[in-house]
Amino acid sequence: MGIFLKDISLKGKTALITGATKGLGRGAAIAIAEAGGNIIAIGRNQLELNSLKKEIKKLRVKYLSFNCDVNNYNRMKLFISSLKKLDILVNNAGTNIPESFLNVKKSSMETLLNVNTKAVFNVAQLCANQIIKLRRKNGSIINISSIFGVVAGQKRTVYSMTKFGVEGLTKGMALDLAKYNIRVNSVCPNIVLTPRTKKYFADKKYNKYIKENTPIKKVVSVSDVATSITFLASEASSMITGSSIIIDGGWTAK
Ligand code: NAP
Repeated sequence: MGIFLKDISLKGKTALITGATKGLGRGAAIAIAEAGGNIIAIGRNQLELNSLKKEIKKLRVKYLSFNCDVNNYNRMKLFISSLKKLDILVNNAGTNIPESFLNVKKSSMETLLNVNTKAVFNVAQLCANQIIKLRRKNGSIINISSIFGVVAGQKRTVYSMTKFGVEGLTKGMALDLAKYNIRVNSVCPNIVLTPRTKKYFADKKYNKYIKENTPIKKVVSVSDVATSITFLASEASSMITGSSIIIDGGWTAK
């Protein structure tokens, strides 16, 4: 096996993925399992956690799931601190409520800050402490950000505020955790077709608008994001920390 293929293998590694039941989180779980990693899936929908189990088991890796809201700090802490193996975190659970700045509801602000920022911080801190406690040789944390952690977008003020926060968190964590050989990076995708965004893509004009305005004339796919996550999870990226991979077909390069 060549150097790259050896290093990209996640055989013997264990990855915890939040929001693994659908969309980008599910894609990341499947890609990491394809690379040989064992999966710990967190989500709130038991039927979807069970259906993911069937897919992951076909790839002959271990699967454990935990039905939990990432905002429930005490349950998350109890679970993460009980893990016997942990090397990788895909900090993915997140949401968006598009509203124009002048009309942002207090309840939307609360939801977005809780899920996209506070829970991302809490889960990362719990996992980093557990990786260190288990004395793993190395660790990799991948925070799922967005192009709205890089540029602004209309009706995206709060979402951008949370994702720019994730970018700052990523860089700060990378510095504090380097001495434990834990790398911390983020991925910043443009809009991807997932259960959360399918309502936008239902409008053919929107689909056309995204394709025409992306220099590489395609919409970002779940697998485009999942492969970058797998690369960052693996030792093939062992000198990359405090970085972001922008996955947007050139959208923000214009
Ligand atoms: P999605 O299709 O709505 O899936 C979101 C996942 O997060 C689901 O598995 C959901 O779990 C989970 N989740 C949400 N809130 C949770 C909570 N409080 N506790 C536990 N799990 C929770 O979303 P997605 O589009 O894949 O987005 C995933 C991440 O990518 C988010 O951070 C998002 O900001 C980011 N992102 C998405 C896009 C895009 O265009 N799709 C682009 C850039 C960045 P349950 O269903 O089990 O509740």
